[in-house]
Amino acid sequence: MRHFIKQFSEQSIVPSLSNFIRIPNLSPQFDNQWQQNKLLEEACNHIIKWIENETIEIQKEIQILQIPNSPNCISIKIFGNQKQNKTILCYGHYDKQPHFVGWKYGPTTPIIENNRLYGRGSADDGCVPYAIISAIKALKEFKQNYHDCYLIVEGEEESGSHQLIQYIKMLNISKIDLMIAIDSGIVDYDRLWITNSMRGAITFDIKVFQTINPFQYLRILLNKLEDSLTGEVNSQFQTIIPKSSLEECQTTAQLVPLEFPMTCQKMESDHVQQYINRAWKPSVSYIGGLEDLDQDNDELIIRISMRLPPNKDAQEASQQLVQLLTTQWSQVEIIQAKTGLAVKSFSKELKNILNEASIEYFGNEMRMFHEGASIPFLNSLYQLYPESEFLILGVLAPDSNAHGPNENLNIEYFNKLIGCLTYIFTSQNI
Ligand SMILES: [Zn+2]
Repeated sequence: MRHFIKQFSEQSIVPSLSNFIRIPNLSPQFDNQWQQNKLLEEACNHIIKWIENETIEIQKEIQILQIPNSPNCISIKIFGNQKQNKTILCYGHYDKQPHFVGWKYGPTTPIIENNRLYGRGSADDGCVPYAIISAIKALKEFKQNYHDCYLIVEGEEESGSHQLIQYIKMLNISKIDLMIAIDSGIVDYDRLWITNSMRGAITFDIKVFQTINPFQYLRILLNKLEDSLTGEVNSQFQTIIPKSSLEECQTTAQLVPLEFPMTCQKMESDHVQQYINRAWKPSVSYIGGLEDLDQDNDELIIRISMRLPPNKDAQEASQQLVQLLTTQWSQVEIIQAKTGLAVKSFSKELKNILNEASIEYFGNEMRMFHEGASIPFLNSLYQLYPESEFLILGVLAPDSNAHGPNENLNIEYFNKLIGCLTYIFTSQNI
């Protein structure tokens, strides 16, 4: 199986994914001509054509889902052949981040170096449809069974996944047993990494007006929000970390290097607590506003981004913010509020499958990762099928440079991930 995947990856995936990299199909938010230049359509068709060519012997149904003013969404249903067929929904996206500068070879010039495929969209998230289809193909080749499997590949993740839920609803799937979203981070290339939680985020403006010294007043307000010496955020925004997540954080922390590039002092010296702080505690950052400050103006506006614990409801936190910071001399305007995600514990069976898969392909047990950042669509997906198990995977290590120059896909990790997927798709116990 391992050999088959490696060979198929070399002979079919990498050449096709390289041609995908050549298409500069930026997400709609970064290309206002996308409907005219049809680059997203070209990328979508490129993936479908590859799937059609590679799955002739596999029973499936391919659809291009369409909603006006939204990029097309690819939907593939693969009909399983298990005795007790379960339903799996897999997610990926084909739109890309802007190119930015600093590339060694160029964002649309696919190059393999040290077994990594360089180019925009290689790892985030072009490789996903290739991974899912290859896993099914490998199982077919080795006459192993697999479950019913839907693959959804949307075209506007980097712009906010506005129609994703509508697209999935168009499929009328009554029950999903397992959702697999492959668009997340990993820590190293030594094991199967599973994202267990993500923080939420609120962006808001504080407006201070008609006081003798608005800046001084702003400091008073900010002190209500966070302790300026320690960075500890007001207790209203703290939550209780579930026991299982806390234990997982403690196991994972040793594997995660945490860098403090600034010259500021660390708020916390214990490494495990630093990791927990980043993953589960709220934090406040100033992101703009003061540059417009006018000396003659007695009003000022500051924009704040606040990360929320994964299990804190963003609407509730928004109301608390308004209550906390609205006074006779100040107002709060919520710009955006997105709840994070705390995935419920896996069943014992699924946990075993994931561990076995990771040991089989990587030689190490899998590990849970707790993301300090946010991927908002994951929560919407989770809410759509709350009964389903939710597996968040990825190929994005810190040196994969997703969203930056020299984005690259570690081909060895990718191949091993396909191996793990075969393990999951064929297992009776998911
Ligand atoms: Zn992505």
